[in-house]
Amino acid sequence: MSERADVIVVGGGIVGVSVAYAVSRLGRRVILLEERTIASGTTGASFSWLNATAKTDNQHYHALNRRGLERHLELAAEWGEDAVGLAGTGSIHWSYPGAADGGPAALLARAEKLDAWAYPTVLLDRRGLGALEPYIDFPHGSQGFLAPLDRWLDAPRMVRRMAVETREEGGDIREGALVTGFAFDGNAVVGVEAPPYSIFAPQIVLAGGTALSALSARARRSLARALPVRPSPGLLVDTLPLERAWLRHVVYFPDGAGFHMRPTFDGGVCLGADDIDAQHAGRHEDSLLTGATALLHRATDFLPDFPALEQAAAAHTRIGVRPMPEDGLPIVGPLSAVPQVYVVATHSGITLGPYLGDLVAREVVLGAQQAELEPYRPQRFGQ
Ligand SMILES: Cc1cc2nc3c(=O)[nH]c(=O)nc-3n(C[C@H](O)[C@H](O)[C@H](O)COP(=O)(O)OP(=O)(O)OC[C@H]3O[C@@H](n4cnc5c(N)ncnc54)[C@H](O)[C@@H]3O)c2cc1C
Repeated sequence: MSERADVIVVGGGIVGVSVAYAVSRLGRRVILLEERTIASGTTGASFSWLNATAKTDNQHYHALNRRGLERHLELAAEWGEDAVGLAGTGSIHWSYPGAADGGPAALLARAEKLDAWAYPTVLLDRRGLGALEPYIDFPHGSQGFLAPLDRWLDAPRMVRRMAVETREEGGDIREGALVTGFAFDGNAVVGVEAPPYSIFAPQIVLAGGTALSALSARARRSLARALPVRPSPGLLVDTLPLERAWLRHVVYFPDGAGFHMRPTFDGGVCLGADDIDAQHAGRHEDSLLTGATALLHRATDFLPDFPALEQAAAAHTRIGVRPMPEDGLPIVGPLSAVPQVYVVATHSGITLGPYLGDLVAREVVLGAQQAELEPYRPQRFGQ
């Protein structure tokens, strides 16, 4: 079956669906092809903290993330917070003298930098922390800050809502549609093969997450200088609904290993930690259980009486794999060898997805170069 579109998008995670939505809003016919179901990849297994707070190494990237967060707020204002799964009233970062993370000094320096970049923070002493998070046992000398702009998201809910809107705009989102290859006319890529479909379009956007490297190598018909996107697995635990609202914010703890928690929509909590990601990110069932149990027990270091034991058997454990570009920054733009093929990958895809979608659609549909994307071109890797 042969079909035509103005733009083909490969990948139905938050990035691909955001691109499809923005393209359809610009009045072009878009076909999105997703191998499984939308939001079933990394987007469905993400901590989904919407923030610019963690991005303080690079002011340009910080500003991009802030716009990302603001775009979520705009969509929530249009469609309703519940409909898009937006929640939260900020993130809390705290420590105390002698803590495993080295104490509050680094955090306070980060707060100062964020303030200097006009990303507000509220400094908190032990009493202030306790007022915001009454169930956390803050040791004497605890200090920290609240980043009140930050939010968190039920990402699949946002993606499903965007898909509904895309279809209403005339866009076509197909699930169970695996892209197996590309159609060429000489050296130019003119379409994709997704049996039983052959679909032709002048523009093809690859948003395949961790599959991006392999997909783009196929489009270039060369494995040389593959896009450096490394798979970075992460393990998260969602408890069942709990009797008590143990947390009110996204909270980062001073365990020296990036332990973090946030509430969930159904009244439970979601937990993760950088060291557990590194140790227990295999898909082996024992490894999942060990990782989940370790996370739940770590919660009791900070939240006395947290029901770790009873949740260990019942909690839902998920593994997600971040598409991690080599330098940690997004990769966004057309490939030099095949400019009809446009690539998008980022490890902060939940925060950035809808805003990147807008920028990408303007470039692909209107041919309007977006200066904001210049630092993130694939050409920095010799593409
Ligand atoms: C544990 C963890 C915590 C995270 N925390 C945060 C956070 O707090 N904040 C944040 O902003 N980000 C966070 N991230 C990162 C974020 O989740 C990802 O950056 C984002 O989900 C990437 O979205 P995507 O659309 O690029 O990829 P995906 O959601 O993986 O979507 C890609 C899709 O492409 C499809 N696909 C691939 N190949 C083909 C093909 N050949 N044909 C058709 N379809 C194909 C796949 O099936 C998949 O559905 C986290 C990630 C993890 C794992």
